[in-house]
Amino acid sequence: MSQGAPLVDSFGRTIDYVRVSVTDRCNLRCTYCMSEHMTFMPKSNLLSLDELDRICTAFVHRGVKHLRLTGGEPLVRRDFMTLVRALSRHLTSGALEELTLTTNGVRLAEFAGGLAEAGVKRINVSLDSLDRANFARITRGDELHRVLDGIAAAKEAGIRIKINAVALKNGNEKELPEMVRWAHGHGMDITLIETMPLGFIEEERSDQFLSLTDVRREMESYWTLSDLSDRTGGPARYVRVEETGGKLGFITPLTHNFCDTCQRVRLSCTGTLHMCLGQEISVDLRAPLRASPDDDLLHAAIGQAMATKPKAHDFLLPVSGAAPALSRHMSVTGG
Ligand code: SAM
Ligand code: SF4
Repeated sequence: MSQGAPLVDSFGRTIDYVRVSVTDRCNLRCTYCMSEHMTFMPKSNLLSLDELDRICTAFVHRGVKHLRLTGGEPLVRRDFMTLVRALSRHLTSGALEELTLTTNGVRLAEFAGGLAEAGVKRINVSLDSLDRANFARITRGDELHRVLDGIAAAKEAGIRIKINAVALKNGNEKELPEMVRWAHGHGMDITLIETMPLGFIEEERSDQFLSLTDVRREMESYWTLSDLSDRTGGPARYVRVEETGGKLGFITPLTHNFCDTCQRVRLSCTGTLHMCLGQEISVDLRAPLRASPDDDLLHAAIGQAMATKPKAHDFLLPVSGAAPALSRHMSVTGG
């Protein structure tokens, strides 16, 4: 496989989007994502920033146009901005269209200026509640004020923000319309996400799961939701809320399959390339990366990985008492 060959899987989907988890650690412990006393990887297992750069660069050379840095919480990775600044050379050269990140926003105020300078134009901020006590309960951290400061700082720096909120039964169910109004009132799109059964958590997943089909139906009883044709190649379906003028996305991995147009893969912070968020299939890139100072082996492994990308995930609706569909947490794969 040549180093410049584009990445096409066996179903003809061109892979041009890579999510990169730069750490599995986090400064929050969201109840649907992590257990309260998480065991994180030994730091020695992590790819170095240089290694992350090498793999990302290999993907850019294979036609990847979108890189999203995530985690865990990307902004807790030491010297994170060194990686961002290094990768921004691909924006300057035009090889990369977009360098972006998904963050919980807690440390965003510190980073907003630097991110904007490095060419980051939009980011996703995860925010599940605007109520201080509820936010603290869901995330196990009393940090709402810092997230809101981070959002303000990013806007000030000229970065566009999309809010991601996981829809939680007995969690933020009642707040969702207010959150949509708030986001749209501040010029931000918002996407609601169904919980996915990834990794052990203390709570019963079936107690948390809220069907977005039901949420949407309820919203349609007081709002006009007009379908938009926007498809980012991602799993979200978008509508325009006519009353607020803003865009609202729904990510429904359990109630709708979104795999037919999937053009993404995920790199874990230890160099494992996950071919699908909802399947165990993965390819190790760390060994070929470390085996040789040039990138031939790495490119060969990336090329071979494409043939293993499955057609679709096989999440099932959560059943009370069932083990998670996958043992790994979203924070490992990179959400
Ligand atoms: N820490 C950053 C954040 O929260 O934005 C980035 C990583 S986090 C794993 C990425 C996204 O995954 C967040 O929007 C989070 O709400 C979502 N997420 C985490 N666990 C999830 C789960 N089990 N089901 C659905 N979404 C989940
Ligand atoms: Fe941390 Fe993001 Fe997971 Fe919450 S969703 S625990 S912020 S990685």
